[in-house]
Amino acid sequence: MMRDEWGEMLISAWNKAGWINQPSRVGDRIASLIGAAPGTVVMGDTLTIKVYQALASALEINAERRIIVSDNGNFPSDLYTAQGLIESLDRGHELRLCAPEAVEDYLSEEVAVLMLTEVDYRTGRLHDMKALTAKAHAKGIVTVWDLAHSAGALPVHLASAGADFALGCSYKYLNSGPGGPAFIYVAPGLADKIRPVLAGWLGHEDPFAFDLDYRPGAGIERMRVGTPPVLQLTALEASLDIWDLADMNDVRAKSIELSDLFIELVEDGCPDLTLASPRDGRQRGSQVSFRFDHGYAAMQALIERGVIGDFRAPDIMRFGFTPLYIDAEDVRQAASAIGQVMTDRLWDDESYRQRSTVT
Ligand SMILES: *Cc1c(COP(=O)(O)O)cnc(C)c1O
Repeated sequence: MMRDEWGEMLISAWNKAGWINQPSRVGDRIASLIGAAPGTVVMGDTLTIKVYQALASALEINAERRIIVSDNGNFPSDLYTAQGLIESLDRGHELRLCAPEAVEDYLSEEVAVLMLTEVDYRTGRLHDMKALTAKAHAKGIVTVWDLAHSAGALPVHLASAGADFALGCSYKYLNSGPGGPAFIYVAPGLADKIRPVLAGWLGHEDPFAFDLDYRPGAGIERMRVGTPPVLQLTALEASLDIWDLADMNDVRAKSIELSDLFIELVEDGCPDLTLASPRDGRQRGSQVSFRFDHGYAAMQALIERGVIGDFRAPDIMRFGFTPLYIDAEDVRQAASAIGQVMTDRLWDDESYRQRSTVT
């Protein structure tokens, strides 16, 4: 792409190489991974921006209601976005947070929007998207699903679940690389009715008319904002070529097998670690987390030994399982390194306690 398109065609590649349609073209490929129809997903911006767009449009659909329900396992950026939007709107909206297990009890006819991340970023606990969407709809609630830890991690069935809005990033399980663009889904039939709150020129019906007034583009196109990140989208397309070779059900089966094995080996070798993820693989995303008071230091010791996970405050050691390039032997080696770090207290070293910016 850099040599033949950018290098040779320069800006004419927007037409000649189809860069201008890349957000929808790639969106269709993501759609096939998350159970959505072609023409319902578009790429662009980062996930936080997509949360803002979806939530703002969703609130307008239920304009007479004032409550947004989410859970306290949701990712801070999603919650901050809701808080910021509530302040900007200044119409008395309220963000109500509940425990992940209690969402159902919070659904009532005063709720405008149910906004959840399907897989809890800390524990990996999986919400039942279909059941909760049905319960929300029965009370007239619009749903916004964050698939950050679902897309590429497990089969997702947006259309059959009846989800209204969904979004996710491409740089976690979809491997687009750091800073890769997000995707947004709007249910067919709904996209043409919503008002895009970020009215950018590439979401306009006819961007190159350069009208002074905004007219929303057709369907999901209106969720585009500005110039797409072509280099990152091209990296994502290369990753999706690999996803084309895989069946998501096989990936899921392997992910459960590997993570079950990991739990078994780590629990055998490390009595000081407490499982924070659901034990039943069907209730988890594609990650396993353990609690440990010195989790940050222990993770640094592991990273130095080639086992690269992350730490989520206050005490979560999180390990991701990506069957496209990890197998049982990797899991055994990782579990053995964790066993060594714990048994020999290798984490108990001043240098591992220095917190870096990114944990
Ligand atoms: C990773 C993640 C984000 C990050 O959003 P960016 O704008 O891409 O930085 C937001 N929400 C959830 C649920 C996430 O897991």
